Amino acid sequence: MTNQYDVIVLGGGAAGLMSALTAGQRGLRVLVVEVSRKPGKKILMSGGGKCNFTNLDIQPHHFICKNPHFVKSALSQYTQWDFIAMVDRHGIRYREKSHGQLFCESSAKDILRMLTTECQSAGVKILPDCGVGYVQALSQDTQTDGFTIESNQGRFCCRNLVVATGGLSIPTLGGATGFGYEIAQQFGLSISQREASLVPMTLTGKWHDLSHAISGVSVPVTASVETKAFRESMLFTHRGLSGPSILQLSNYWHLGEQIVIDLLPEMSCEDILLGFKSDHAQKTIFSALSEVLPKSLLQELSSHWWPDDINTPLQEFKKAELRRIAGLFHHWEITPSGTEGYRTAEVTRGGVAVDKISSRTMEVEGVSGLFMVGEVMDVTGHLGGYNFQWAWSSGFVAGMHVS
Ligand SMILES: Cc1cc2nc3c(=O)[nH]c(=O)nc-3n(C[C@H](O)[C@H](O)[C@H](O)COP(=O)(O)OP(=O)(O)OC[C@H]3O[C@@H](n4cnc5c(N)ncnc54)[C@H](O)[C@@H]3O)c2cc1C
Repeated sequence: MTNQYDVIVLGGGAAGLMSALTAGQRGLRVLVVEVSRKPGKKILMSGGGKCNFTNLDIQPHHFICKNPHFVKSALSQYTQWDFIAMVDRHGIRYREKSHGQLFCESSAKDILRMLTTECQSAGVKILPDCGVGYVQALSQDTQTDGFTIESNQGRFCCRNLVVATGGLSIPTLGGATGFGYEIAQQFGLSISQREASLVPMTLTGKWHDLSHAISGVSVPVTASVETKAFRESMLFTHRGLSGPSILQLSNYWHLGEQIVIDLLPEMSCEDILLGFKSDHAQKTIFSALSEVLPKSLLQELSSHWWPDDINTPLQEFKKAELRRIAGLFHHWEITPSGTEGYRTAEVTRGGVAVDKISSRTMEVEGVSGLFMVGEVMDVTGHLGGYNFQWAWSSGFVAGMHVS
């Protein structure tokens, strides 16, 4: 029967293509069903079009999951070095940006072309524009008999079903269907709370007005919540805060929680102000700090933190008052009103709970032949190539264990 496959992969994104090519290379008959007109759309838009495809330093602590041990097996079965070896085999040029992040030299298209070429040579069939409405296990007790899927292009049967439908971010791409969560629930898996993540934060009130006034300004900071701190740059936007430090923090931040910004993480503001008070007492706080922070930011902050003394020379400040103001630069407390949501988020935090998924194979316990891979699961990586590495590693192990 022509519509019978060994493996059907639902979703032709990073994780789906990786599972498909791995299973295909093992001689299995594989079909990738993709709802969009083209596979791999997120790969193409990733990393500003250059795809930050992995990181030189991949450790389990770069991933957030209810079970922090869950990622270990897959990450060690298929490492960043394995993926880099494939990139090298295809002659794709890349370079390391900061923090071990690897980006294509030319274009993210190179990575997608590599994956589809590998799929093609492994005999994988990719079916675009194929929306799946319904999945059914062939046997009532969900043991081994495989699955049928009903789609707008007909009915397909398979022994193994790999769910690689991704998350909910960037709904305008058309692939954020949430169908993978429905399948997971259908087969008894639970779904942990999902939130837009790796996403800019929004502000209201006076801090919104400040950010709006200086949107486009970027400063190196340490941004923290109670459990985590990131030392990277922060960008002021029309709606609030963004930049790597804020995107990273969004993986750990929850609505209503305060964040703390250290605007001078590498120096002591107190030393600067007291030093100027003793050596250049005619200067103002503004001029003392304008060598280390953007003037526009200082201008805005001054109206909140020392409003009546903007033109007052340092000699007229008591040391205790300067210490208080210096403290604010290291401990700026802000409570974001929310995030920009899935519209601009890079990933979905949360998803299919991993407690009933084998960390070694990605197969669902008790539902033989059903596999979950990639972002659909409750695994979220830090910014920096970690989410793609999770897609490659989890996709690979599923591709190795389908039969
Ligand atoms: C703007 C942006 C930039 C990013 N940049 C980076 C980066 O540089 N580095 C990094 O590591 N990560 C980055 N990410 C995150 C990364 O893209 C994802 O984590 C990764 O693509 C997840 O892979 P996946 O295969 O699980 O899901 P996806 O890549 O989202 O693929 C899921 C696929 O399933 C398809 N699909 C959904 N529902 C159905 C259905 N019912 N039937 C058939 N097909 C379906 C979708 O159309 C899609 O093609 C970025 C994300 C965004 C949005």
